[in-house]
Amino acid sequence: MARRRSTLLALGGVTAGLLVGAPLAPAAADPVPDRQPLAVGTGGAVATVDPDATRVGLEVLAEGGNAADAAVAAAAALGVTEPYSAGIGGGGYFVYYDAASRTVSTIDGRETAPLAMGADAFLDERRDPLPFQEAVQSGLAVGTPGTPLTWVRALEQFGTLSLGEALDGGTRLADEGFVVDQTFHDQTADNQEKFARFAASADLFLPGGAPPEVGSVFRNPDLARTYDLLAADGVEELYAGDLGADVVRTAQDPTEAPGAGPVRAGLLTEEDLARYDAPLREPTRVDYRGLEVYGMAPSSSGGSTVGEALGILDLSRLSSLPEVPALHRYLEASALAFADRNAYVGDPAYTQVPLAQLLSPGFAAERACAIDPDHALAKPVPAGDPDGEYGPCPAEDAATQDGGTEGPNTTHLTVGDAAGNIASYTLTIEQTGGSGITVPGRGFLLNNELTDFTFAPSDVTVPEPNLPAPGKRPRSSMSPTIVLRDGEPVLALGSPGGSTIITTVLQTLVNRVDGHMDLAEAIAAPRASQRNTASVEAEPAFIDAHGEQLTALGHTFTATAEIGAATGIEYLPGGLLLAAAEPERRGGGSAGVVHEVAGDLNAPGALAPELGADG
Ligand code: GLU
Repeated sequence: MARRRSTLLALGGVTAGLLVGAPLAPAAADPVPDRQPLAVGTGGAVATVDPDATRVGLEVLAEGGNAADAAVAAAAALGVTEPYSAGIGGGGYFVYYDAASRTVSTIDGRETAPLAMGADAFLDERRDPLPFQEAVQSGLAVGTPGTPLTWVRALEQFGTLSLGEALDGGTRLADEGFVVDQTFHDQTADNQEKFARFAASADLFLPGGAPPEVGSVFRNPDLARTYDLLAADGVEELYAGDLGADVVRTAQDPTEAPGAGPVRAGLLTEEDLARYDAPLREPTRVDYRGLEVYGMAPSSSGGSTVGEALGILDLSRLSSLPEVPALHRYLEASALAFADRNAYVGDPAYTQVPLAQLLSPGFAAERACAIDPDHALAKPVPAGDPDGEYGPCPAEDAATQDGGTEGPNTTHLTVGDAAGNIASYTLTIEQTGGSGITVPGRGFLLNNELTDFTFAPSDVTVPEPNLPAPGKRPRSSMSPTIVLRDGEPVLALGSPGGSTIITTVLQTLVNRVDGHMDLAEAIAAPRASQRNTASVEAEPAFIDAHGEQLTALGHTFTATAEIGAATGIEYLPGGLLLAAAEPERRGGGSAGVVHEVAGDLNAPGALAPELGADG
């Protein structure tokens, strides 16, 4: 399929969805585009955090591109409009359902540690762990970018477009500019101090010394040129070319702004770039209420931890429980799964991860035995023993009888096309704003992903699966997820938010499958995140609604303004597609479909057909 810039401009007439308000004229000429949390229709669906990126993805689908094409195009657009989360200086995980072969595949585009990085890389001269922010804002935290190779691999394996064609919409956005919204302004303001330390970041993101004003047009000609370079010469420019040499030079010796203090130098070399691979991996799979739930295997802990918790919850009849006992089980299953994540999950090339056991029904049943329906367990709970030998519960247990340093970082996009192909893609540069270091003249930020390593073991007598090592991938929590039933597409989702990603995906799935909510409601519902800590992190609305009753069971809560920013799509009966994004969090996301449908979407069950058989 040939795509030219002029055709993109001509696409102003494509219907952007039943409920999508964003017009498809060039962004630079528009007012701040609308955000829209729900769209239903046909021809394909796209949900991202950003209206421009959703529009770019829809345009690709409308022109006959498939879900992989649209996902890469939308990601490239996010690299422009969400540069603090989604740039080519970072990494991510791409999970794909191919309708023709009815298989789910994944690409591990996680950053790797430089070959020169040892286990003590994040210790200071006194062998104490570095202060976290000192580590973040440094060349030391920069891992080998994986996003460019992920895009190429996704297009080669699953797509129909060339890299240049897929980059086209993003290039145009970078060239012509996009309208600054409140979220972009606020994220820039939150990073002002960090960006001010680095000359190229201050020049690009703090024009005139301040964050760009809401309603102004933000252009990034350097990034447009970088995308053009990748389009013309391929990603070898990054992994073996001048662009890569610039990345290495910048990571090793970031150019500080006048008056800024020195930062720790990076270890990245051209050899690290040349050796980088983004391998295809088998997805994780668990069966939940008769649905097949696919996720990302290690180096992410997303698939294993969401999967283990679902395995535990599959033993409870959540849909017939009142809300508070159901939430109690959700919190406890999450804590147990996190204990095992922390003990056993790391880069599988360096650590024997007992993945099959962590996801086995036998281990889930053993872990479910620990849940007391009347009392919250003391946290942190110890890790279990996924050794393959699982006895019956030592005591009758009603739960089975009845059936860090995290922020709103990263971005998740979900695409479903008319043929049933699905892309569920989470990408990041780690912190919002990454390391804060822009590659001079190239228009993108470098990641600080290596701060996802554990800096020092908390107990030297216990093996730690996530210490730094040469070439190693730091453990991630990203959880791009695809759900099938009998091999047919049902839904897909994911979220940003560090380790809260896992609980956001878990809670949203449980809301949708067991909680009688449609996908948009499941995403909008107030969140709580229990990651095996003494106190549950929860949004104020969750605490208002359930805090008192859950506190009576022994849970304690710490309020946090927002957890996650999810997107998802669902295949509804009758050939309809639903796209869903956040109504409020992170300023609201953008859901769109290619063709709107008319119809009574308020009819009972229209958007939330029964999905799973309750165990
Ligand atoms: N670096 C995080 C991870 O891989 C994602 C960034 C975030 O959302 O905090 O788990």
